[in-house]
Amino acid sequence: MSKRDYYDILGVARSADEKEIKSAYRKLAIKYHPDKNPGDHEAEEKFKEAAEAYDILSNPQKRQRYDQFGHAGNSASGGYGGGGGMNMEDIFSQFGDIFGGGHPFESFFGGGGGQRGGRRVARGSNLRIKVKLTLEEIAKGVEKKVKVNKQVSCHSCDGSGAKDKSSFHTCKTCGGSGSVRRVTNTILGQMQTTSTCPTCNGEGVEITAKCTTCRGEGLERGEETIAINIPAGVSEGMQLSMSGKGNAAPRGGVPGDLIILIEEVPHESLKRDGLNVIYDLYINFVDATLGTSVEVPTIDGKAKIKIEPGTQGGKILRLKGKGIPEVNSYHKGDQLVYVNIWTPKVVSNEEKELLNKLKESPNFKPQPGKSEKSFFERIKEYFE
Ligand SMILES: [Zn+2]
Ligand SMILES: [Zn+2]
Repeated sequence: MSKRDYYDILGVARSADEKEIKSAYRKLAIKYHPDKNPGDHEAEEKFKEAAEAYDILSNPQKRQRYDQFGHAGNSASGGYGGGGGMNMEDIFSQFGDIFGGGHPFESFFGGGGGQRGGRRVARGSNLRIKVKLTLEEIAKGVEKKVKVNKQVSCHSCDGSGAKDKSSFHTCKTCGGSGSVRRVTNTILGQMQTTSTCPTCNGEGVEITAKCTTCRGEGLERGEETIAINIPAGVSEGMQLSMSGKGNAAPRGGVPGDLIILIEEVPHESLKRDGLNVIYDLYINFVDATLGTSVEVPTIDGKAKIKIEPGTQGGKILRLKGKGIPEVNSYHKGDQLVYVNIWTPKVVSNEEKELLNKLKESPNFKPQPGKSEKSFFERIKEYFE
């Protein structure tokens, strides 16, 4: 397998100086970084290839040997000629000087984080907020812009915690890897142990003078307006999380998550029952007897419904698909309209007279027949 030319890999001229080489590599490292290309094998190969090219061309001696002898120039002296390339740990430890100068490399990439190649990456804490939603917002889904008070990167030091460029260095003890290897002799033979670098506490960098604004923490209080996309169908007590939108981490680490707790604002006339929406309709017995048409509120405007002549109290009418959708599904609930017959609580003498007349009429004597469903049957029918 013949190897590609290192200058071609980085896309620089053979006369390129140190700065050009560094800048070309930085671009490639960001482009092919595994955090940005999860599971992409080709990107990973390109990432390693670029790291190897940089490793050779950034070192004057190795570069000279390469210019003179090509790939063979460095393979004999324990280089990377075997085709194995550099391992990820080597590459990440090299990042200390590539992205150094006051800016830890993590801030170039969203997400990812945790422990990488022995280097300890600080993690910001999670931030919890409550979001109140109306039934209409729940039914349709909504984008909520929320202003949150949180820890952000310090503006003076760009989150590095260092006073200035010259006070921010790759840790000399561990070379930026954040861990140190120690070989100890035990009765079982030689044992190699890896432990967190005591000089930098695993962070891979040393700060010789702290930023005075944040006292070296790299953090300050700030405000951020975050757009939260809330899917349709959420319910009271549900939690959503947005990764990386929580508090910033000390010294350029990985920010925490934003945890959003859903609260429902009660609707003035509709009640939610799972995916269904319930409305209590009251009509007088005259409308129930003669039939009528009424408007009822729904989660998207008013709907006209017909009340058949001779409707009994307790009837349940169903408006199909007028309920709440299930989260991430096409399934939708219904609106159920409970028909209640309104019985007047106060009547005038005149009304009393009329009602007493009606009472004597044979049609006003309750006479439920076989066709009338019992209350229990009605309930069962609608909820099964
Ligand atoms: Zn600062
Ligand atoms: Zn160290």
